[in-house]
Amino acid sequence: APARYEELRDTESVTKDGVHVELLGNIEFPTEAAACIEKGAGGVGLYRTEFLYVNKTGDPTEEEHYAAYREVVAILGPTRPVIIRTLDLGADKFSPATRGIQEKNPFLGLRSVRLCLQNRPLFKTQLRAILRASVFGDLRIMFPMVSTILELRQCLSLLREVEEDLHDAGIDYKPNVPVGTMIEVPSAAIMADVLAKQVSFFSLGTNDLVQYTLAADRDNETVANLYSPVDPSVLRLIHMVSQAGSRQGIPVNVCGEMSGEPVYTALLLGLGIRDLSATPRKIPEIKHVIRSLTIPEAERVAQDALQMETARDVASYLRGHLRRFL
Ligand code: PEP
Ligand code: MG
Repeated sequence: APARYEELRDTESVTKDGVHVELLGNIEFPTEAAACIEKGAGGVGLYRTEFLYVNKTGDPTEEEHYAAYREVVAILGPTRPVIIRTLDLGADKFSPATRGIQEKNPFLGLRSVRLCLQNRPLFKTQLRAILRASVFGDLRIMFPMVSTILELRQCLSLLREVEEDLHDAGIDYKPNVPVGTMIEVPSAAIMADVLAKQVSFFSLGTNDLVQYTLAADRDNETVANLYSPVDPSVLRLIHMVSQAGSRQGIPVNVCGEMSGEPVYTALLLGLGIRDLSATPRKIPEIKHVIRSLTIPEAERVAQDALQMETARDVASYLRGHLRRFL
């Protein structure tokens, strides 16, 4: 981000008309937690935990998980939120091939929470470590790639089991740790009103949501023309999820790459989003955009964008809007 926004670190993330926008950081390694504070984030909105598995021979132990979570909580302190995403292995992350799984379509296969639900000891080990670390700060748990209500229920009931195990063993944990689900599969976006009743927050994983909505591989250059976070189909889904969250009174975060792009900030606020989680280095600039906008202006942008028929029209409209005040 340009150096001129760095001085915003200690200013509030608030729109010109006084609406607070929670601005959090995405991290992949514990060592990145310090950057969140340095760049003025209010906490960690997405702590990816796949690093625990990469380049390791065996699965990480409960103590390895625990140490990684303690490290981040120690840096963020007792009151800043840290949203830990449970394992999202598979497809683009870390091939399940190494777990002996061969698949024709890994992105549609046994990845992420699906893999966890079929490997309950593996899943429970991580949940135990998160709950144990929870007593030291404001930890929250987030499940990735949830596609159905049943999967979410299974995740929640496994978490209850882990709580009971800890309780029975006399091990300290914080009861009622907030639990959220990522919305990154179109089925989950469509069923958001039902899912919202089961969780404390949503987090829109737009990287995957775009890929699955448009059936365009997020890493495949030859179909990159289709892959747009402002395709009208995606905007409608984001809008649906945002409305479902607000009807149920739960926050809806956006943690895909689009939340770190200033060109999308007005649109997201206008769609009702009040929580963004972005890569730390983008935070000062996003905060600058937030502080330059009013909610009615953002709502006008979103209303205009929702009328458009192509991603290209939306993108060029948003670029024009951004130019007016950056
Ligand atoms: C996403 O899909 O938007 C997301 C935040 O998760 P990841 O990029 O780790 O799949
Ligand atoms: Mg994802």
